[in-house]
Amino acid sequence: MNIILLGPPGAGKGTQARRLVDARNMVQLSTGDMLRAAQSSGTEIGKKVAGVMARGELVTDEIVIGLIEEQFSTVKADGFIFDGFPRTLAQADALGHLLARAGQKLDAVIEMKVDDEALVARVTGRSTCANCGEVYHDVTKPQPADGKCSNCGSTEFTHRPDDNEESFRTRLLAYYRDTSPLIGYYYAKGQHVAVDGMAEIDAVAAAIRDILDKS
Ligand code: ADP
Ligand code: ADP
Ligand code: ZN
Repeated sequence: MNIILLGPPGAGKGTQARRLVDARNMVQLSTGDMLRAAQSSGTEIGKKVAGVMARGELVTDEIVIGLIEEQFSTVKADGFIFDGFPRTLAQADALGHLLARAGQKLDAVIEMKVDDEALVARVTGRSTCANCGEVYHDVTKPQPADGKCSNCGSTEFTHRPDDNEESFRTRLLAYYRDTSPLIGYYYAKGQHVAVDGMAEIDAVAAAIRDILDKS
């Protein structure tokens, strides 16, 4: 089973993708995580994208499609959760070709709907476990009082440099301009389903489970 989690920055894509990985033996393919990993390991791609990502603009289609192709051809899984990819129509086309060549299909495109005002609060309060990637939020999912990640026990947490209000506004604009047309694209193909991303994390997870059980 292959699904896309589609939604603006802070919608909860990463949070829900991690839940699905634990519950369903699927693999999360997050282009944001791949690009951040490229930056921390100092690859050519990492150096090239650093400024663009800090400003909140989109990385070129060529780079992200290349990263997805590489992961898709090397990682074996019962299914993939595409998180933060595709973000443009060109990326959506490339994904369609990639799946078709592998004899696979997309089972669902799940749009996570969240109000703009809630998004800015989510993004500016976000932190991540440096060891396992567990996602926290200052208000809605605080780090445990003992300072240890509830998933892995690590005491190191990071705050993304692009999770500031200015960069967020640029990312939101990029979402509306370049990514939101994908909603109509997948709707026309009969693959689009929406969930209320304003609900609590467990309730969103339940709604996604229902969709996958029916797909
Ligand atoms: P968020 O969790 O806020 O939605 P991501 O971690 O998915 O953000 O992406 C962080 C940044 O990485 C984006 O602002 C963009 O610069 C770059 N990026 C990630 N995925 C893509 C993509 N599919 N196409 C272009 N740029 C991307
Ligand atoms: P995305 O990957 O779409 O950018 P994340 O999963 O990283 O989003 O979530 C953004 C922030 O919002 C994180 O701090 C996360 O803990 C928090 N969050 C995620 N889902 C919810 C929710 N349903 N309600 C409240 N906060 C949430
Ligand atoms: Zn952890």
